[in-house]
Amino acid sequence: MTNLSPLPQIPVGECAFFFDVDGTLAEIKPRPEEVCIPPSVNAALQELVQQTQGAVALVSGRPVEELDALISPLILPVAGIHGAEHRDIRGEVHRITLPHALSALLADKLSAALSEMPGTLLEDKGSAFALHYRQVPHYENTILTLARQTVAEHPELVLQPGKCVAELKPVGVSKGEAIMRFMQAAPFQGRQPLFFGDDVTDEAGFKVVNQQGGISVKIGEGPTAAQHRLQNVGALRHWLKTLLLQQSTTRVRSESDESLSRRI
Ligand SMILES: [Mg+2]
Repeated sequence: MTNLSPLPQIPVGECAFFFDVDGTLAEIKPRPEEVCIPPSVNAALQELVQQTQGAVALVSGRPVEELDALISPLILPVAGIHGAEHRDIRGEVHRITLPHALSALLADKLSAALSEMPGTLLEDKGSAFALHYRQVPHYENTILTLARQTVAEHPELVLQPGKCVAELKPVGVSKGEAIMRFMQAAPFQGRQPLFFGDDVTDEAGFKVVNQQGGISVKIGEGPTAAQHRLQNVGALRHWLKTLLLQQSTTRVRSESDESLSRRI
């Protein structure tokens, strides 16, 4: 694993936090529906929300409704389907969709192709299509060839490779764009962005965060544009817990100093 510099001290109250979900906040499971976020991680997110006046968002390849279910009862600003769906702090949802005729054509074409590859899974996200091959990794080349051919035939699409998945998403949709969009409005605007992600799809986010003078953190192995690395999901959770503990210790100390100075 390439050594990147350790994470610096984080001025939490001046930062905006962006998290990928699968492989970052949550352990990857054989099937996407088995993934869960433990209550302790939810509690940490809630605490971050309080300390940043709400500048915490999820930026994921999953649709918004799945993200909501994963962190329920917490409700956060979220970018779903790599930013094709975007829900801001006021709860307004913006969507970039594929033309209906193209969507229907792709659904037919891709499901026919994947039915020839037992164990693969086609996920129709409405604004994007994910071709999963986690159960049958020997189909990787065939899936990637199919995805490349489809993109070549339809210039409205781009290929987004990921961990055991190839996604076809609308042109102009990326996690980098999604983070930039959040950063243009309150409560994110003017803060230092931090982005945590684990996959190829997160690289666009790392680049944007680097350009904005923020802090980019890759979870796990692999080449990356991120400035820092945490070894795995557990290491991120531990880092987050320690960060929040430091904040509350500092707060208690400053409150007790204040009450001492009042008494003096
Ligand atoms: Mg991920």
